[in-house]
Formats: sequence, C-alpha cells, structure tokens
Amino acid sequence: MQALVFDGGAPALRELPRPAPGPGEALVRVRMAGVCNTDLEIVGGYMGFSGVLGHEFCGVVEASDDPSWLGQRVAGEINQACGHCDLCARGLGRHCPERSVLGIVEKPGCFAEYLTLKLDSLHRLPPELSDARASFVEPTAAAYEILEQVAIGPEHRVAVLGDGKLGLLIAQVILTTGCKPHVIGRHPKKLELAERFGARVAEPETLSPKSFDCVIEATGSPSGLQRALGLTRPRGTLVLKSTYHAKLELDAAPIVIDELSIVGSRCGPFEPAIAALSSNAINPDPMIDAVFPLAQAPEALARAAEPGVLKVLLEVSV
Ligand SMILES: [Zn+2]
Ligand SMILES: [Zn+2]
Repeated sequence: MQALVFDGGAPALRELPRPAPGPGEALVRVRMAGVCNTDLEIVGGYMGFSGVLGHEFCGVVEASDDPSWLGQRVAGEINQACGHCDLCARGLGRHCPERSVLGIVEKPGCFAEYLTLKLDSLHRLPPELSDARASFVEPTAAAYEILEQVAIGPEHRVAVLGDGKLGLLIAQVILTTGCKPHVIGRHPKKLELAERFGARVAEPETLSPKSFDCVIEATGSPSGLQRALGLTRPRGTLVLKSTYHAKLELDAAPIVIDELSIVGSRCGPFEPAIAALSSNAINPDPMIDAVFPLAQAPEALARAAEPGVLKVLLEVSV
C-alpha cells in the first residue's frame, strides 16, 4: 500500500506492506484524512515520532474478528490503551502510560491506504455525515473535551484565543451551549468565518483585561498563554489546548494572586462530535481549504503549512 512516511527527513510516499490486524483490532481502509498542526509539528521533531503520519480520518472496516464491524464506515479514537493498567481500569485509557497513539506515538497513522486500530476505538458513522466532514470528528471531539472539563453556558463570558482550525472548532462547540464566545485572532478571513459561525470576534488589544470567566488558549504559540492569563478574571479558568514543544517562560504570580484554575485539555469524546457534525450543529465545511489525493500527500502537507490556510484533506480512497 501507499503511505506517507516521516523518518526525520522530508515526509515521502513509500510502498509499505498492508498492516495485519492483531486480536481485537480492525483493518480499516482509509477514505479521507485531515492534516492537523500536530502532523506539521511532528515533521518539525515534536514527539520524536517516525513512521506513517496522520491521525484524523474516516474509513471502512475491511477485516475484523468481530463480523458486525465488516463494511462499517468509521472514525477512530487515536489513543490505543493497554486495557489492564490502573488508569485503564479507572476508565482513563486516553491517559494509559503504555498507550500508543495513531500517527503520533509508535502506531502507524492514517495517511495510508490502510491502518489497524482496536475495535473499541472505532465509532460507526451515520450515512448523512460526509467523508470530508467525518475527517473532523477527531479534532471536534478534542474541542468537546472542554465541555467535559469546564461548565460553560449562556451566562458565561468565554474567549477563544486563536482563530486557527482548532480555535474555530472550539468556538462552534461552545456556541452549541448557548454561550457566544469571543474569538480572538489576527486573520481577517478566519475571524470572518468565526463571525459567520455566530461567535463574536475581537483583536487582542481591544479587550478589557481580566474580564473573561473562561479563556481557551488555542494559538499554538507560547506567547498565547501569557496573553490568556491577562484576560482571565480572578477565580476564572484558563484552558490550555495548545501542545507546545518549546519550553514556556511564564510569570506565574497572577495564577496565585487571582486564584486561577488552569486546565490542560487534549483528546475528547467522539459521540457528541459525531452527533453535532451529523446534525449540522457544527459545520466545518467552510474551513476546508483544499483536498489532495494521497499521491500528493507531500504537497498537501506543504499547503497546510502555508500561512492563513485552514484545513487540508487527503482523499485516500472512494
Ligand atoms: Zn489532530
Ligand atoms: Zn493502560
């Protein structure tokens, strides 16, 4: 099969053997996949991963020891837990210390014609959810994780710092609660999109300091955290969505003085993401910048790294 492989140099297409599913695993033929900033960071050396890139996908189960999955169109959770450690026993498989992570830690990813994944990581997709939109299930689930961690409703003043792919998905997820978040960014086209989704938009300089109940940092840049601290009201909550590979320098005094809660937030629940994308409560279609065939995966990654570009998708099979 064809796959996009990163081994420290420029990511390149390679011919690889089709993977064989282990016990309790499915063989999935990938249909579409999304390029994420994490993929670009991995190519820059983040996580020390080498192998097949990609973790946002939808596909069809072609082989499994459970016949009820055969032919099912699915999205898949990326954390592959061991299933028997302390954290797994407490239902925290996403934090299993033995886990592999699709296209990020050890597990070959989805920028390939086939992948294998544990059956308990798979979620069936309803027919009304297009392949393109289903490629957003994983990052939308990550945005939903915020609602698992912080109570957000119409009465709250919420800011999303960052108008990139994740920031715009987070804004849409928050809008489903009846809260109208401020999206703070510097890209007129992306802010226009945020406004179209129903959010308020703002440039950072125009906001009163310490005025938000909850600030969600999704800029991907270490300087965003300091700015987010400045916007959070005393006793407010700061949610960190960006994974930095650089070390942060941070004035921590305001965290103590203002008694802020800081919440790290990563992967999230798939079911509300699938439901919201299927019912059109969340519509990521206007965020799609381009669709490339797998054969042009290196070009797709280059495109995704261009400034101002939102989502780039790979069409792997139809
Ligand atoms: Zn991602
Ligand atoms: Zn475990």
